Amino acid sequence: MTKDNLPELVTFGCRLNSYESEVMRSHAEKAGLTDSIIINTCAVTKEAERQARQSIRKLHRENPDKKIIVTGCSAQITPDMYATMEEVSHVIGNDVKLESKTWLNMGSEGQGPKVLVNDIMSVKETASHLVEGFEGRARAFVQVQNGCDHRCTFCIIPYGRGNSRSVPVGDIVNQVRALVEQGYKEIVLTGVDVTSYGPDLPGEPSFGQMIRRVLALVPELPRLRLSSLDPVEIDDDLWHLIADEPRLMPHLHMSLQAGDDMVLKRMKRRHLRQDAINMAKRAHDLRPDMALGADIIAGFPTETDAMFQNTLNIIEECALVYCHIFPYSEREGTPAAKMPQVPHPVRKERASLLREEGEKQLKIFLTNQIKKEHKVIVEKGSFGRSENFSPVRLSQDYEQGKLLTVIPQSLENNVLIESVS
Ligand code: SF4
Repeated sequence: MTKDNLPELVTFGCRLNSYESEVMRSHAEKAGLTDSIIINTCAVTKEAERQARQSIRKLHRENPDKKIIVTGCSAQITPDMYATMEEVSHVIGNDVKLESKTWLNMGSEGQGPKVLVNDIMSVKETASHLVEGFEGRARAFVQVQNGCDHRCTFCIIPYGRGNSRSVPVGDIVNQVRALVEQGYKEIVLTGVDVTSYGPDLPGEPSFGQMIRRVLALVPELPRLRLSSLDPVEIDDDLWHLIADEPRLMPHLHMSLQAGDDMVLKRMKRRHLRQDAINMAKRAHDLRPDMALGADIIAGFPTETDAMFQNTLNIIEECALVYCHIFPYSEREGTPAAKMPQVPHPVRKERASLLREEGEKQLKIFLTNQIKKEHKVIVEKGSFGRSENFSPVRLSQDYEQGKLLTVIPQSLENNVLIESVS
């Protein structure tokens, strides 16, 4: 059941969606849309869309009097898929979902059109929104960029989010400062393709230059974390910060996708496997406590056993410890969907081998963290994460968002344990 007098948010997909859900929550509350359920969809996989439709039917059954408002990338790309569902009151696009007037119109008698979805490729700017907080979260997300100018052959995101556009540095600083004043000790800078930050802004600040300004202008911010990075698009300023700035967390997540050059070429990625290995080596050399993660797709079309082996090997070669593994999911409208497909059982098998290797690397990494001092942020109860994102089980419950100094004594199921019971 939804909490009365407050719009309910159901968020699928990425951190950017989580950030935008908070923006929509405050717009909907201000518009008095207390009788509504907002579904912020994701289009990265068919499975994500199936889950969204399933949630819509379930929530409508449980709350027949509430308005169901669907938005997000899947609603942006295929609005009719939701507009034809009788359970759905409104379908709104990814740009208008962040505008207060969209929600005021829906709150008013007129209620506005059922479908309000623009051509997302025509959107040139990304306005910033001051969110007050993140319900039930230890860390806060701040959007710095939206959209993407690349066209990786497997990816549907640019059709949901449009071309790349950056949030002005000043707005980011204000947002970070506002969240720190709210008590947040850790901020994650997020976007769709954050390393393409800046060329659309006056003075063309790079991603690294923006981060340097944020850290300089908000000295009270204890911890800054970054979302996925393109391995070959890290600028010099960012490398200097990685080397010298203790408030920039020693935890980087690569948008790697594969470890085989032929597969990377067919994905239209900008890097080759040696570029990823070089990036990993440089990051580990600059910060010995560095932890690397990566997104990897298993079973991309035309991937042979030998190509897959190169991807499996790169997990160890780069010491990737936080691996997000996705069996390839063909998306209609993408070039890769037209390529010769790898059978689903093979995709699944390869995904589980990649996960296994990732867990093995994580165990090696966490074993080296035992009996070392860590600053841990409490996520929930007695669970928290250290600077390099190591999972830590604390000896007791603490207030969410609290920062603690911990020296873990042991490791259980790839979680560091504060004290031996
Ligand atoms: S960089 Fe590639 S994978 Fe990432 S959002 Fe853009 S098109 Fe998609």
